Amino acid sequence: MENVAALRILGAIIALLVGLRLLLACLAELDARRRAAESFKLLRTEQHLRVEQHALALKTRQGELELGWNGYRNFTVERIDRNENQSGSVSSFYLAPRDGKVLPFFQPGQFLTFRLRIPNQPKDVVRCYSLSDAYDPQRYRISVKKVPDGLVSGYLHEEINEGDILDVRKPSGKFFADLADPTPIVLIAGGVGVTPLLSMCNSIIEQQPEREIYFFFANQNGDEVVQREHLEALCQSRANFHLAFCYSLPTERDAALVGSTVGGSVLHRAGYMNIALLQEVLPSGAQESYSFYICGPGPMMDAVEGSLATWKVPAENVHMEAFGAKSVAAIKPTDVRAEAAASELQVCFKKSQKTVTWSSESGSLLELAEKNGIVLESGCCVGDCGTCQVPVRSGEVEYLRDPSENPEAGSCLLCIAVPKTDLDLDA
Ligand SMILES: Cc1cc2nc3c(=O)[nH]c(=O)nc-3n(C[C@H](O)[C@H](O)[C@H](O)COP(=O)(O)OP(=O)(O)OC[C@H]3O[C@@H](n4cnc5c(N)ncnc54)[C@H](O)[C@@H]3O)c2cc1C
Repeated sequence: MENVAALRILGAIIALLVGLRLLLACLAELDARRRAAESFKLLRTEQHLRVEQHALALKTRQGELELGWNGYRNFTVERIDRNENQSGSVSSFYLAPRDGKVLPFFQPGQFLTFRLRIPNQPKDVVRCYSLSDAYDPQRYRISVKKVPDGLVSGYLHEEINEGDILDVRKPSGKFFADLADPTPIVLIAGGVGVTPLLSMCNSIIEQQPEREIYFFFANQNGDEVVQREHLEALCQSRANFHLAFCYSLPTERDAALVGSTVGGSVLHRAGYMNIALLQEVLPSGAQESYSFYICGPGPMMDAVEGSLATWKVPAENVHMEAFGAKSVAAIKPTDVRAEAAASELQVCFKKSQKTVTWSSESGSLLELAEKNGIVLESGCCVGDCGTCQVPVRSGEVEYLRDPSENPEAGSCLLCIAVPKTDLDLDA
């Protein structure tokens, strides 16, 4: 009897101990879960913070990249490559910002505007030069052709050295390749007009390596071809990069290459850039969907534009830029609204003390001024750089194309404006 009671007590004690143990285990488990949940929460918060920090950094950088800068910024000429072609007429300038900050992204094809103080010139001179390479956060590259008697190109080639400082406005311009568009791209360059197309080509190779590129390059002769080795190397190493040169005045060396192909696929032809060459290289059907980008001398652009229209390339797939007044000349007088095109209007250039007659044949107000011996400051001639902005004292203008940035209230951009009424300009 006593034994049974003792066994019962023992059993109760054991049950109690087991229960206690189970309770302790449950409590430990709960504690472990609570700790795990807390540390997970902490981890999530940390991760969240990191993501937010990263997003903020990206946003700040993107802000910096998008914003660019206002007015002119100092750049140091970091390096000069003096022989970008065999003849030595084109040099590349690598420009690093003096403040050392990351550079804003640009669209391949855009240009920089420079302001230079040149000895013996009465005032600063402004010129535009296309960015000639893919985006690099540390430096920009431009490539400049020394033109006969050219003021700024001569100054850059002869007087500017590594370490010198230049005043530069942020990248601008509407002639650029869309790096989100996968359709094959056709780049048609004439002479130094190759610079924005080099930027497009190098950017596409970096960011859309699979995209098909057709590069046509017209020059007087092979000695003028800019970045020839680079282009030939691309052609030899990439199946989706197609290259054709044509020469209007081939040297003996060029003549030997004409008709042959080098490295398997570089094509050399004699003569001007023409539709026959394009059709020889491009696959049939290219005219329906490919994008065409053209930059070169006026006559070449006119000829190619006409041929592409005949070949039924949709006008919205053809993009052109000229290095100067041709850009505006390309905007036909028919683009000017009918009432303005039909009329003759009086334009007073107040500071120059001249009043002249504008008709649709006169072109932009800048061209009108130039034709009448009125010397005014200008830069890009496409309404992007703002150099030719002048106050309008009375009257109204209209634009042949949209300015990149709206001019100040009460002012107009002479290079892309035509009068809508008689005008009185403070110029
Ligand atoms: C958007 C854009 C991008 C450009 N990109 C590039 C580029 O990447 N690379 C490049 O090399 N160029 C480029 N240019 C052209 C560049 O801006 C200059 O126009 C070019 O360098 C010539 O300038 P300059 O001061 O040397 O010549 P200027 O002194 O302006 O003279 C130009 C030519 O006109 C002649 N000339 C000058 N004054 C007169 C006159 N009174 N009467 C008759 N003839 C005269 C000169 O002999 C010379 O042949 C670009 C232009 C634009 C608008």
